Amino acid sequence: MAYDPRPVEPAIYKRWLDAGVFQPRPDGEPYVIVIPPPNVTDILHVGHALNNVIQDVLIRFERMRGRAAEWLPGTDHAGIATQNVVEKRLAAEGKTRFDMGREEFVKRTWEYVRKTGNTIIEQLKVIGCSCDWSRQRFTLDAEYSAAVREVFVRLWEEKLIYRGHRVIHWCPHCLTALSDEEAEHHETNGNLYHIQYPLVDGSGFITVATTRPETMLGDTAVAVNPEDPRGRPYIGKKVRVPIANVEIPIIADESVDKEFGTGFVKVTPAHDASDFEIGKRHKLEMPLVMREDGTMGENDGTTRIPPDLDGLDRFEARKRIVKQLERDGLLVKTEPHRHSVRRCYRCDTVVEPRLSDQWFVKMQPLAEPVLAEYRKGAFAIIPERWRATFEHWMENIRDWNISRQLWWGHRIPVFTCTTCKHQWADRVDPKQCPKCGGRVEQDPDVLDTWFSSWLWPFATFGWPRDTPDLERFYPGHTLVTAPEILFFWVARMLMSGYHFMDHRLPFGTVYLHGTVRDTKHRKMSKSLGNGIDPLDVVKLFGADALRWTLIAGSSLGADVILDPNDLETTFAPGRNFANKLWNIGQFVLGQLPSKVAAIEAVDRRQLTLADRWILSRAQAMIRETTASLEQFRLDEAAKRSYEFVWNELADWYVEAVKPRLGTAAAILVYCFDAALRVLHPVVPFISEELWQRLPERKAGELLAAARWPVVRAELEDPRADREFGQVKTVIEHIRSIRAEYRVSPKTRLKATIVARGNDQPATFEGERETIVRLAQLDSLALDGAPQGMGAHAVFGDGSEVVVALEGSIDVQQECRRLSDELGRLDNQLKGLAARLTNESFVSRAPQDVVAREREKEKAWRDQRDVLAGKLKSLGCS
Ligand SMILES: [Zn+2]
Ligand SMILES: [Zn+2]
Repeated sequence: MAYDPRPVEPAIYKRWLDAGVFQPRPDGEPYVIVIPPPNVTDILHVGHALNNVIQDVLIRFERMRGRAAEWLPGTDHAGIATQNVVEKRLAAEGKTRFDMGREEFVKRTWEYVRKTGNTIIEQLKVIGCSCDWSRQRFTLDAEYSAAVREVFVRLWEEKLIYRGHRVIHWCPHCLTALSDEEAEHHETNGNLYHIQYPLVDGSGFITVATTRPETMLGDTAVAVNPEDPRGRPYIGKKVRVPIANVEIPIIADESVDKEFGTGFVKVTPAHDASDFEIGKRHKLEMPLVMREDGTMGENDGTTRIPPDLDGLDRFEARKRIVKQLERDGLLVKTEPHRHSVRRCYRCDTVVEPRLSDQWFVKMQPLAEPVLAEYRKGAFAIIPERWRATFEHWMENIRDWNISRQLWWGHRIPVFTCTTCKHQWADRVDPKQCPKCGGRVEQDPDVLDTWFSSWLWPFATFGWPRDTPDLERFYPGHTLVTAPEILFFWVARMLMSGYHFMDHRLPFGTVYLHGTVRDTKHRKMSKSLGNGIDPLDVVKLFGADALRWTLIAGSSLGADVILDPNDLETTFAPGRNFANKLWNIGQFVLGQLPSKVAAIEAVDRRQLTLADRWILSRAQAMIRETTASLEQFRLDEAAKRSYEFVWNELADWYVEAVKPRLGTAAAILVYCFDAALRVLHPVVPFISEELWQRLPERKAGELLAAARWPVVRAELEDPRADREFGQVKTVIEHIRSIRAEYRVSPKTRLKATIVARGNDQPATFEGERETIVRLAQLDSLALDGAPQGMGAHAVFGDGSEVVVALEGSIDVQQECRRLSDELGRLDNQLKGLAARLTNESFVSRAPQDVVAREREKEKAWRDQRDVLAGKLKSLGCS
């Protein structure tokens, strides 16, 4: 009967919860993982599934090793993402957040979050995650918010937070500033427009090139590199900006790239970060020519924008400006141009560089010590190939824009007196100005979501209070995440941990796993429609099949390839393995006596070669899977335990001991028990279900809380490995001879083993019954020379197994078949040899074609030798 995980898995999960096994045991060395908190609006996708199953494997492994395993779960309030979702729902009602006002909007968002925010948490339970749900946290709950505020005020006091007036990334859809990391680079096919600006003295034109012609309305200079001979004569002259119709100077600035375009660049200080720097150096005007929503417009009273462009969307304005330049003969050329455009990581809108006032954190003082710790080896990022990227980012770290023009989030605790203008950050909301008693106003903005999640490893345990949890669970151990948030989150957690937790880093290892992609290697995403819903997979094949496929398919840091159009095939490995495990379990359990001795009680002198072999293989399996998991090679651990269960235990040992299952019971139970323990982290449900059925199980005992198997050195037996290995080899040889000569499976064969060198007949004598049964023999001789004609194979130290074929096959017919085949091969070889000795073929054909022909010749010759050998051993004339 096939295994049906559907009724089993939820029942088992409930037993684990009821028994409290996910809470760290009171004793034992802690082992801590904090979950990358999913957004509170998230629905589980296959990327989450991969991320969380990896964490679950590690936490279950360490829990079984006796550690006080703490996997801290929770969700992120996700400022922009959540606000976007709620705004979209409002839009469906024909409303905007501005219609309802801040207080009402925040209330509405809380309602939404309270109603739907636990969805992903419940989904994590379905796939078997063993998080400590008693400590679940939310980045906007009261205690966590207090920690965020404390950090802000401390950084303020240390003068690491400042108000910056500069060009930042602005999302015209989300209507907020973004950090560098949130404005993602996308390679885009755009245009480079070459535009003529007439010189005011009437002496001609200069040409500038730009990808964003609409920004020319905000130009306040044209710059050239002072070293560039083409531009030097023009320095100090003036040009008139077409359409904006303003006169601007030509200035010299060393930052101008001489290699780009004509060497003249337009300078738009309010809409370009490097132009802003030029503008500052030359004290240029910095007019904004776009509104926050990305339409053209100005608010400083200048008249740079013609009425027909005012209020027009920036991309519409671009088209119209280009058309007008063309009409006026000022567009020199338009060339296709591949370049990087930044887009909002939340809504994909093209981000607009925009001059603005925002709060920034000075990052260099925070980053420097962490980079030094990394170089000292205080923590590791695996795979190691991320080193250069990480170091580069840390070395060139930019200040962090932490203010967002949103309503959903931690409001910035900066207060300003309306009377004396005193400004300060405060841990509690002040009633009045401490200097003059005047009325105070709080900054309207909220903090970047990541300004709360960067405190996750300690704020979740009660910081800034001195709690027992903080004492016990900080610092943690392993952080498992996707590389996309290495800088958003991981690097910043390292910095905040080091800075606020007494120079103690939050974890020792950062494990960056791969991305789940489809068979065309595209990242799975909702918009591409190539995603896989992990819950669909659970419904079809069970959580274990999902977990097995994800873990076995992902080597350290490599991408996982799944086919969203064929779940059946994609998840077949996991499902087939669960079925196989189930069948082995049913078979083993069905044959066992009610009382089975513990392995320690078994008299080792009574063990057969097969017994000693499987016990030794079990030790190797335990040793190797443990080492793999310690090195984060989860796929290797999964494959090694699979191999043990399927190829060693089921295919050989169970088959070998079938006639004496009663006497082998203790060994079978020991091996199956060890396999279930080792498999448990990857396939927790089916392993628990089978483990519960093993004999001698005490009431209430759970595999999830059981101990990881230890290697018993006394059971390691290299001699048994070698000797039973030979028994297997002999059986395999006889089986392949049977297949090669097409002997009917019903025919019982006669075989002789001629042991030579160190191979001892006693090895085979002990397992005679096994060889005879598994190779379907009539008889097995262990001495003397084989009689008559037959087929043979060599193994070990030159020993031979010879299978008599007389009477088992029609020798005459087999001889005819073999010599026909030989004749055909000889003809083919002759043709090939003719071609290869033909000078004109060898000299004219491409080298790889010739090489392939030579390889073919060699393969055919080998085949010929095999056929000739067979003919000889059958005694064909
Ligand atoms: Zn956006
Ligand atoms: Zn005041």
